[in-house]
Amino acid sequence: MKKLILLTALLVAVMAFAACTAGGNQEPERRTLVMGTSAGFFPFEFIADDGRGVIGHYAGIDVSLAARIGEYLNADIVIQDQEFAGLIFALQSREIDFIAAGMTIRPDRAEMVNFSVPYFTAGQRVVVLQNAPFNSVADLEGMIVGVQLGTTADIAITDSHTEGNVTFQEILRYNQPVTAIMDLLSGSIDAVVIDAPVARGFQANYPDQLHIFYDPNNFFGPEQFGMAFHLEDTELLAEFNEVLSRLIAEGYVDYLYNYYMTEFTPE
Ligand code: GLN
Repeated sequence: MKKLILLTALLVAVMAFAACTAGGNQEPERRTLVMGTSAGFFPFEFIADDGRGVIGHYAGIDVSLAARIGEYLNADIVIQDQEFAGLIFALQSREIDFIAAGMTIRPDRAEMVNFSVPYFTAGQRVVVLQNAPFNSVADLEGMIVGVQLGTTADIAITDSHTEGNVTFQEILRYNQPVTAIMDLLSGSIDAVVIDAPVARGFQANYPDQLHIFYDPNNFFGPEQFGMAFHLEDTELLAEFNEVLSRLIAEGYVDYLYNYYMTEFTPE
């Protein structure tokens, strides 16, 4: 009888141990999530070669935000830096787990990806040289306009051109915003259309050369940024949304915007 009790006790102990190691009371397992971005988009994602990188040498509002969300979700965030125009494809083919790239929430994109709650309100601005005679998109009729390939600026300018509203001499589509700005500074193009905070970043770096304006005829609509997820990853989306909503409510995104705009300037 004694032997039987001892044996039962031993069995119970072994079973309890097995249940424990199978994950009963354990922390959720640490995972790695790949963030797809296009790091030429100060203040949202850029390379900080001065040791102030947040994930590797990458810094910016999206990078800090993703890093903070990763802390809450017990996940390491690694960055895949690529061209903006290929991000949705990279997500669909599961090369990346989510997009954080100052990406505007649009109904056509929402058919291909799931967007998080919006975390930033932006809109397009026109960047021109200080002395240029342009004050509206209509003034750019017959001019050479630069945009970043596959962005909302590209869509708006291309649509206007093909619909014959304001027609341009040429639309140049760049992979990197900085290249467009360099062409503007050298006088080979007349204007660059880009998101307001990014325009402001460049202007801060070339205050005597660049001028930014908002189209007075509301040529560009309002835009909101969201992080994007594979259509099947609804659980990951929910996890991000919970943390992201909390961080927005706490003013963390506002804090990051002020931090990056005052402490850094783009290259
Ligand atoms: N907000 C713009 C878009 O979604 C541009 C984003 C970007 O260039 N990173 O198209």
